[in-house]
Amino acid sequence: MKFEQYVVKEIVHESEEVRTFRLAKQEGSVPDYKPGHFFLLRLPGEDGKPCQRSYSAASHPSEPLLSFCIKLKGSFTHLLWNLKEGDSLEVDGPYGTFLLLPDDSERVFIGGGVGISGLRSQILETVNEGRVCSLFHSGHGFGNLTYFNEMKKLSEEHDGFKFFPSITGDDPPPGWDGLAGRINVQILQEKLGSLAGKAFYLCGSKEMAGELAAALIAAGVPREKVKKDEWG
Ligand SMILES: Cc1cc2nc3c(=O)[nH]c(=O)nc-3n(C[C@H](O)[C@H](O)[C@H](O)COP(=O)(O)OP(=O)(O)OC[C@H]3O[C@@H](n4cnc5c(N)ncnc54)[C@H](O)[C@@H]3O)c2cc1C
Repeated sequence: MKFEQYVVKEIVHESEEVRTFRLAKQEGSVPDYKPGHFFLLRLPGEDGKPCQRSYSAASHPSEPLLSFCIKLKGSFTHLLWNLKEGDSLEVDGPYGTFLLLPDDSERVFIGGGVGISGLRSQILETVNEGRVCSLFHSGHGFGNLTYFNEMKKLSEEHDGFKFFPSITGDDPPPGWDGLAGRINVQILQEKLGSLAGKAFYLCGSKEMAGELAAALIAAGVPREKVKKDEWG
């Protein structure tokens, strides 16, 4: 491990419990990384001992700052919530194997809640490459659909990118024309027409990403065309 000092350049309050932290090294640069990579963030804990967690890069490597989309949960995220713009923290990475496969003809991204983070980077890469892709993003309420406006705009600007947001718990906002309920194989088949010839990238809880990955393989999608990043 090789931790380096980074500076918090921007903090975006996405919702009550989700923030995007945009970082750069002390001299302003960002490291080389690929869409889907994760990094270790480290801060001193309340007892003074170093405390670290893993976070997927939400930014695309071409963006000037290294961003993380983080949900407030337990001990480490409470430390992050104390940070202000201009503060420092330690970062190590990139790491991970949840990376785009070069030979995909069409990609389907499926994320639960803050699982959108690494997928955002992968979607920007796929759209930049001019490949066809879709995003199925589910959240308990509308507020859990982080980056909704950006993904909607991207889908309006690129015919090859289809966006299917879904609200699984709360009542949808007035005029909602997205999906309701959890993403399953039946919904995927209905919206995509067919599962054949597509590569699937899933990110979220074990329950969501693990179960859906198994269901896709059971429905006939080749195992090597189903990639998942489960966070426990
Ligand atoms: C490769 C990878 C990428 C990831 N990317 C992201 C990302 O992009 N965004 C993101 O938000 N997260 C991401 N995570 C998850 C992240 O690493 C942390 O696990 C998460 O932020 C929670 O850390 P925490 O210290 O705040 O919570 P923790 O203190 O570790 O707690 C985690 C959960 O356990 C519960 N808990 C805590 N203490 C107890 C207890 N004593 N008894 C019972 N339950 C308890 C908490 O309520 C919480 O629900 C990623 C994880 C991995 C492995």
